[in-house]
Amino acid sequence: MFDVCIIGGGPAGLMAAETAADNGLSVVIIDAKPTYGRKFLMAGKSGLNITKDEAKSEFLNHYFNAKKWLAPIINNFDNEAVMKWAQDLDQEIFTGSSGRVFPKSMKASPLLRSWLIRLSNKGVTFYRNWKWVGWQDDVAAFETISGKKFIKSHTTVLAMGGASWSHLGSDGLWADILKKNYVNVTNFQPSNMGFKIQWSKYMKPFFGSPIKSVRITSGKFSTIGEFVISKKGIEGSGIYAASKFMRDGNNLIIDLLPDTEIETLNKRHKHLSPKVSRSTFNRKVLRLNDEKTAFFNEFSQHISTQDISHSAKSLLIPHEGPQPINEAISTAGGVSKSALNDNLMLKAKPSVFCAGEMLDWEAPTGGYLITACLATGKWAGLGAVNYIKSLK
Ligand SMILES: Cc1cc2nc3c(=O)[nH]c(=O)nc-3n(C[C@H](O)[C@H](O)[C@H](O)COP(=O)(O)OP(=O)(O)OC[C@H]3O[C@@H](n4cnc5c(N)ncnc54)[C@H](O)[C@@H]3O)c2cc1C
Repeated sequence: MFDVCIIGGGPAGLMAAETAADNGLSVVIIDAKPTYGRKFLMAGKSGLNITKDEAKSEFLNHYFNAKKWLAPIINNFDNEAVMKWAQDLDQEIFTGSSGRVFPKSMKASPLLRSWLIRLSNKGVTFYRNWKWVGWQDDVAAFETISGKKFIKSHTTVLAMGGASWSHLGSDGLWADILKKNYVNVTNFQPSNMGFKIQWSKYMKPFFGSPIKSVRITSGKFSTIGEFVISKKGIEGSGIYAASKFMRDGNNLIIDLLPDTEIETLNKRHKHLSPKVSRSTFNRKVLRLNDEKTAFFNEFSQHISTQDISHSAKSLLIPHEGPQPINEAISTAGGVSKSALNDNLMLKAKPSVFCAGEMLDWEAPTGGYLITACLATGKWAGLGAVNYIKSLK
């Protein structure tokens, strides 16, 4: 019998395991996959952004509706704590110009390796290739290669992630199990995702090209950023940042010339003959590079020369909705706050705590995701510790 059984070995589960072990509890951490932290490792493939170095008040604003209930949890393990955590795991870190914090190696693998060794040294037990399938007579049940297994524990922390990149383990199948146990789970939605566009044949040479330094606006969201033209549509940091607002029904508007006033474009236009061709207009007035020109032409063929300058500064991008949820960086939805007490314990299932992306919050990329996973992992681990203390 363990004190704490952690189910899910991503950053949230590992943090919950360490918190419980540091408090002298016996801990087992169980994952459905043969190795731990597969999504965390994937996050490191494009540069592991662990947190953002910015003022606390500004930091919390990125959690939208969950800001209020996440505030005490993130204040307890904030961006500074995340930086210290990485350094304690022998990772040198640096802060980029935008305030994003990365390990110097940019990867997750050295950090994860040190962390797993540290957990093992603290006496944490690891079971891999065990998939949690629910409870049988209140005991956690797992499917394994050698049949069904059960783990008895005083408390449980569920940290099974969201519902994207399912081949890495986070398949969201836990949602139906919890619903059957009277836990309120909000439907999953993609978060930080690309959008589908059916391109014309003229765009093919530009697949993979970045569109840099543009203003991206959707609803009340607006930023200067960049994105990538992909075979299937548009993706990349600027689009991910706008994606929640686009998903919620707002148009996507791109200003391809954020540093050029409309008056400047009008002045350039004045010097041209009224019968000027479209390509000459683009070259002499808009002066866009090749990929921006192609992108602009794709969406502006119906616009008269009179209105072209305006549309280059506020180009409406029709799209066919988000890319499939499985391809999203993260997911919104999950265990509803109303299903949890302030310690992240399930009201319908006392002694069971939840942490990480499986909770119903969302945030943009920028290190906010991993920070909240670590902070909720710590909080749920502390919840388990205090619950066990209360039994004695
Ligand atoms: C391409 C990509 C890039 C990213 N880049 C960043 C970044 O730079 N910065 C950032 O902050 N975030 C980034 N993220 C997001 C970040 O990786 C996740 O938010 C984070 O890993 C979620 O942590 P978690 O512990 O909640 O869940 P996960 O990391 O998803 O871990 C959940 C674990 O639970 C296990 N599990 C699931 N179901 C079961 C079951 N039934 N039984 C047993 N085990 C189960 C899974 O196998 C998995 O190991 C990125 C994500 C992707 C896909």
